[in-house]
Amino acid sequence: MNMEPIARTLAFKPSERNVFFHLLTGCNLSCRHCYINPEQHGKGMVSRETMRAWLALFFDRERETNLVFLGGEPTLHPDLAEGIAFARQLGYHSVTVDTNGYLFHDLLDRVSPRDAVLSFSLDGPSPAVNDPIRGEGVFAVCTGNLRRAVAKGFAVSVIYTVSRLNLEHLREMPRLLADWGVHRFFIQVIGIRGKPAASEGDRFQLSPEEWLAVVPEVAWEAARMGLHVVYPKVFLEEGERFECAGRVAENYFIFPNGRVYCCPLCEDFPVHTYRIEEGRLVKNSGLIEERFFGLDIPEGCVMNKLLQPGNLRYNAEGRPLYRISCCLLKQEVR
Ligand code: SF4
Ligand code: SF4
Repeated sequence: MNMEPIARTLAFKPSERNVFFHLLTGCNLSCRHCYINPEQHGKGMVSRETMRAWLALFFDRERETNLVFLGGEPTLHPDLAEGIAFARQLGYHSVTVDTNGYLFHDLLDRVSPRDAVLSFSLDGPSPAVNDPIRGEGVFAVCTGNLRRAVAKGFAVSVIYTVSRLNLEHLREMPRLLADWGVHRFFIQVIGIRGKPAASEGDRFQLSPEEWLAVVPEVAWEAARMGLHVVYPKVFLEEGERFECAGRVAENYFIFPNGRVYCCPLCEDFPVHTYRIEEGRLVKNSGLIEERFFGLDIPEGCVMNKLLQPGNLRYNAEGRPLYRISCCLLKQEVR
């Protein structure tokens, strides 16, 4: 029997809806690559009533809707457990909590493993690699809670944000994660939003060569150990079709100040497509995200070209050497 993993691009499904709900922008940590931008999204936290109202607003019983709770640190919200239960009751297809691992408010004791997947952010295989990025003592807390979650029967994912600070250590992750009983491994590319965009982003970011030399190989290795691996496509292969999720998929990135974006790369700017006003989803006018989504350029993603032109390369005739995929397009190996 052939046990080799299979790799595939997870094409956008028109019928799928994903709701990314930032409950608050506050966090107990201060990671070097944090993408939260309080200037754009405020310092607030949605109230219990608002959380319930917005969960109901974004639920669509006609279509499979996946929900991700985010922050800041979403477990700092005292009503997260109730929000998870309410989302399941409404009928969300899946509920995931993206956490830094601190699991405040006794989350593991208040939520059933049937109701939510827990996704832990970890940026290194040891305190020596992780803690200079995420903070002193974070590795111990995060991995301790991760193991408690696995022991309680939760499906657990790990998100590893790759940068020049930790690329070399990515290879050590598959063995660790398999030993801990982690189900899914998300290898994330360092963002160009929030803190990195404002300060040391260029120093952190990987070149195409660095990314391609390490990430696909590690993903393959992890999949061979039984992990389900997902990472952003980033570079489209020859002949692969470019698609902008803003045009062909339905994603909502909701912030506590009521802004709703369709593209995460737009989140540092006031170009959100919708706002929530008096409990209704209202479409904005003027310069909003969809004006960018409609532009066809040979480089692929327009926002990438605007925000990060340094990662594009051209030949002598000025044609791009490769195209950058939508940041929401994922590659899966399992
Ligand atoms: S845990 Fe997340 S929200 Fe908190 S500082 Fe780190 S990246 Fe930012
Ligand atoms: S990342 Fe680029 S391709 Fe994807 S939704 Fe945003 S603008 Fe469109």
